[in-house]
Amino acid sequence: MAGKAQKYAAKTKTAKRLRGSLKHSTKAYNRCEICGRSRGYIRKYKICRICFRQRAMNGELPGVHVATW
Ligand SMILES: [Zn+2]
Repeated sequence: MAGKAQKYAAKTKTAKRLRGSLKHSTKAYNRCEICGRSRGYIRKYKICRICFRQRAMNGELPGVHVATW
């Protein structure tokens, strides 16, 4: 897990952007760009599940709609 997190942090420089003094990349985490929520974060959309749901319901996310078929 640590290796994967390090790899990701190095790729996106998320850790550097979030905490300048952070040396251990295992502590790196993403936050929702809208509400700042750290849990339930959807990396693909860079927002949390709650903001994702609101956006999806408003039709602001192209190609995303309620799963009924
Ligand atoms: Zn959010």
